[in-house]
Amino acid sequence: MDDIRVLEPSGLDALIAELRNRGFRVVGPTVRGDAIVTADLTTAEDLPRGIGDEQEAGKYRLRRRDDDAYFGFADPAQSTKPVFFPAEEVVWRGRRETGEGEGDAGHFTVERDTPEQRPVALLGVRSCDLRAVQIHDKVLANRTFRDAHYEARRAGTFTVAVACGEPAATCFCTSMGTGPRPATTSPETGEPAYDLLLTEVLEPEHRFIMEIGTEQGRSVADAIAAAPGAAEDKRAALEVTDAAAARQTRAIDTGTIHDVLRASAESPRWDDVASRCLACTNCTLVCPTCFCTTIQDTSDLAGASAERHRVWDSCFSENFSYIHGGPLRGDVKARYRQWITHKLSSWQDQFGMLGCVGCGRCIAWCPVGIDITEEAAALGRMAVASA
Ligand code: SF4
Ligand code: SF4
Repeated sequence: MDDIRVLEPSGLDALIAELRNRGFRVVGPTVRGDAIVTADLTTAEDLPRGIGDEQEAGKYRLRRRDDDAYFGFADPAQSTKPVFFPAEEVVWRGRRETGEGEGDAGHFTVERDTPEQRPVALLGVRSCDLRAVQIHDKVLANRTFRDAHYEARRAGTFTVAVACGEPAATCFCTSMGTGPRPATTSPETGEPAYDLLLTEVLEPEHRFIMEIGTEQGRSVADAIAAAPGAAEDKRAALEVTDAAAARQTRAIDTGTIHDVLRASAESPRWDDVASRCLACTNCTLVCPTCFCTTIQDTSDLAGASAERHRVWDSCFSENFSYIHGGPLRGDVKARYRQWITHKLSSWQDQFGMLGCVGCGRCIAWCPVGIDITEEAAALGRMAVASA
């Protein structure tokens, strides 16, 4: 039988303390202002206890729950993406050393910036966001080009996933095969997807069903004296995620979407969506899998020092496709087409996987409520009609 443990809600503090004692920087969901974000945690008090969320197209609100659930919300406003792939980072710093006399022009020294080496413990990462981390592992660290900064931040990550019991109206992970319960292993590497998996069960008594994913996870569970569980505890955990899956109303047909988009390059739907899209880039900034960046160089006024920064960019920016005197995708229609086609179609050709995990953030955070599931369905209908 699986190694199942049961953790009282008070055990979350012991879990965080144990991870910190082992040298991890513990990162998880916490409330900042009017949103749940992903940030550093020091105790279980930092978790969004008793807080839920309401998400719809163009809408994100927190609400007070009538219970003490610690993970009674769908997903944080921002995923774990910035933990390993920050919105802005220094790639290198340069300094000009002046010469020491006539004939000595001086020289320029370059120092590479190295990310903090303290390993991260992700606490409370959702199934969709865990899949997004696996996608970034493939894109950024498992191809010919390897992103050294990403690899350094990812090294030694300890993962405490939390299965989702409260999907938002915007969620569609079930149709993408990415949730609400995470797969035990990464489909690409076959490695364990998490060290520990928690499912929060609220009735009849509030507890966490803990499943062990790795030996390191077992060692942590032993250290915090998580009590042995039984088969009915595992059943209770499965009931939570089965109910969450059944509540999802949005979906994408992953069996047809690749070919639908390949057949839709000239679809009239692009004019329709372009008439609504503001090209604000929100959808790409909240997306846990988007990874486009640009380079910005700065120097001081005296010209003595310079820095190269890598900054998140977006395919919705006009200048993102600027090349040889003009942008390749000069209008919003071309940019929306590029974004959704990459996410749902050409990403499969490029990386052998879908580029969308069904987290629904692009729907909630789009100021005009453009919905990727609605656009995909409309394109599908139009492709069938024109075939
Ligand atoms: S495209 Fe939208 S739903 Fe899919 S992973 Fe990105 S933000 Fe989430
Ligand atoms: S789809 Fe929505 S969020 Fe994305 S760029 Fe257009 S208006 Fe902004």
